[in-house]
Amino acid sequence: GQRMRNQKIHTTYPNDINRLNAPFLTMFESLIPPNEEKVKQKQLLTVLEKLVSKEYPEARLFLYGSCANSFGFSKSDIDVCLAMELQNVDKSDILLKLADIFESNNLQNVQALTRARVPIVKLMDPVTGISCDICINNVLAVVNTKLLRDYAQIDERLRQLVFIVKHWAKSRQVNETYHGTLSSYAYVLMCIHFLQQRRPAILPCLQGMETTYFANVDNVECAYFDQVEKLHNYGSRNGESIAQLVWAFFHYWAYCHDYANDVISVRTGRTLSKRAKDWTRRVGNDRHLICIEDPFEVSHDLGRVVDKFSIRVLREEFERAAQIMHCDSNPCVTLFEPY
Ligand code: ATP
Ligand code: MG
Repeated sequence: GQRMRNQKIHTTYPNDINRLNAPFLTMFESLIPPNEEKVKQKQLLTVLEKLVSKEYPEARLFLYGSCANSFGFSKSDIDVCLAMELQNVDKSDILLKLADIFESNNLQNVQALTRARVPIVKLMDPVTGISCDICINNVLAVVNTKLLRDYAQIDERLRQLVFIVKHWAKSRQVNETYHGTLSSYAYVLMCIHFLQQRRPAILPCLQGMETTYFANVDNVECAYFDQVEKLHNYGSRNGESIAQLVWAFFHYWAYCHDYANDVISVRTGRTLSKRAKDWTRRVGNDRHLICIEDPFEVSHDLGRVVDKFSIRVLREEFERAAQIMHCDSNPCVTLFEPY
């Protein structure tokens, strides 16, 4: 079908916006994984740990991605990172060896993808029905998973907003990096940035505060304030409801963000200029048409997958969503209509 084009820019919430709070919260609740799913994930991790440690006693397994950052939907696959010292051994050899072990222990659909950008072994556990991807030494992903989870504990509106935005992005097919749209990780950063910008702010900038957590990963220094239990009242001076925030989120990305000049930066709690980051021209495949700075790998633009075509798709989808939030009679349905 045709994606809708910009019509009219509105600057404040419609009067009856709060009628949408209940249906958005119901939708959020229905997407959260039930507790028994979390139990099964732990169970599978334990099984994998046993199998791996027979061959590699020093290796450690960590959950990362949406199953561990608190932004995972019910029934998603899990992401596992195996951390171990590699001394003159090839990652591919280890992945193939692991695939062997898993296969001979009744795990199914076992596949080693040794040539992928992030090489992994895939498998499905017939006991729990859970599928999983295992990578090696992707420790930065484990650390950024913790950062996201820590932000989620500060104000419950972040988790609600992310679930609604991810559900929208999946329904509208703009959560597909191989088609030039954005990863779930990028959408979470967009939501955190957005809540850092509200006045009064709903989220702080954890990397701008005193360091209570530190990790040096592949020469990247990861430092931030992680005692988030001390911040659970942080956003309480801002009384915006979830419906108002969904409205404002789409409004921000449709009409307020300066795509030509700005980079969003959760690390600094504000926007930076593309010029300051030297992200003004295309280098190789990185076009910088929407710029989202990784909080730790600061030279990494999560928007680099976006191209000339998909930037239009994305912006038209933000505009469509903003229009629907403003004047549709039933946004909780229309917003998520499959593309
Ligand atoms: P989904 O529910 O859609 O699976 P997810 O959070 O698991 O969401 P993935 O795209 O599967 O998202 O990514 C898994 C994890 O890998 C992310 O949470 C993040 O920690 C890390 N990650 C993904 N993409 C990047 C990237 N471009 N740069 C750095 N880390 C990334
Ligand atoms: Mg995932």
